[in-house]
Amino acid sequence: MPRTAAQHWIEPHPHGIFVRPADMWIDPSQAVERALVTHGHADHARSGHGTVWATPETLAIMALRYGTEMGTPVPYGDGFEANGVKISFHPAGHVLGSAQILLEHAGERVIVTGDYKRRHDPTCAAFEPVACDVLITEATFGLPVFNHPPIEDEIRKLLDARDAHLDGCVVVGAYALGKAQRVIAELRRAGYDAPVYIHGAMQKMCDLYEAHGVPLGELIPATGLAKGELRGGIVVAPPSALNDRWARRLPEPVTAMASGWMRVRQRARQRNVELPLVISDHADWNELTETLLELRPSETWITHGRTDALGRWCELHQLKAHALDLVGREDEDEG
Ligand SMILES: [Zn+2]
Ligand SMILES: [Zn+2]
Repeated sequence: MPRTAAQHWIEPHPHGIFVRPADMWIDPSQAVERALVTHGHADHARSGHGTVWATPETLAIMALRYGTEMGTPVPYGDGFEANGVKISFHPAGHVLGSAQILLEHAGERVIVTGDYKRRHDPTCAAFEPVACDVLITEATFGLPVFNHPPIEDEIRKLLDARDAHLDGCVVVGAYALGKAQRVIAELRRAGYDAPVYIHGAMQKMCDLYEAHGVPLGELIPATGLAKGELRGGIVVAPPSALNDRWARRLPEPVTAMASGWMRVRQRARQRNVELPLVISDHADWNELTETLLELRPSETWITHGRTDALGRWCELHQLKAHALDLVGREDEDEG
């Protein structure tokens, strides 16, 4: 097994991955002077960095969430050099603007996937496999039990529930960045052209997606509408709103939730979810392992999730792997 030299210039720390020659951190969980950010989710994009390098979409998302940030936009495919390290961003297929980061230094190619998925998603650019020596990957759903069903099946369940409850409504819990827009775009793809009612917390992010060329159809704020107006409707809200006072204004809501974690019955029960929709923006077990077989990196470093199971699988397939223990990378709502 060839041994890579990347460990001499890339240092995994609990709060992020440090690229020593470039003096830059990747997705650091605390504020640093120079940060490379894979995507806008809160567990990857923190506020308070000196300078951020990210895709233009991710910078826009960070500006929306944190106010104005210093940032250098790096469009997909464009590269720049930082003290002998060539750095470029490539689509990760996770949410709008999400990127894998390719680091080239000392004759080695290292890919940091960030979060990724390989399924079609009308709201973001598709994952591109990038040849590499070292793959630094996530493993959020790194157990064989996690095989995400086709999204069309889950959207069909949502539409059927709506048709069966025209006197009430269906409220779907969906993470405000990415999942909500994907659910809405997939409803449109399935031919649903009625207005979709949204929680106020989603408006600006939906506007941002539309401004970046992702059409979502007619969206109406659910807040302030009379119960009668919401009957027969589909309402999309952040997961945290499902069980709070906000949801009480809805007419006889059927509670749905869109998350890869909905594969786990206990999680659905904990959240009082009547209609679990297994819709994930992360690679499932098959996508993770197929990606490893496709890229066949000399070494795999696993950043978060089920690092043990994926590490074991790598061993069985003669792929050298080890787990990094990064902190603050689990965001259940994001699943
Ligand atoms: Zn994410
Ligand atoms: Zn994440």
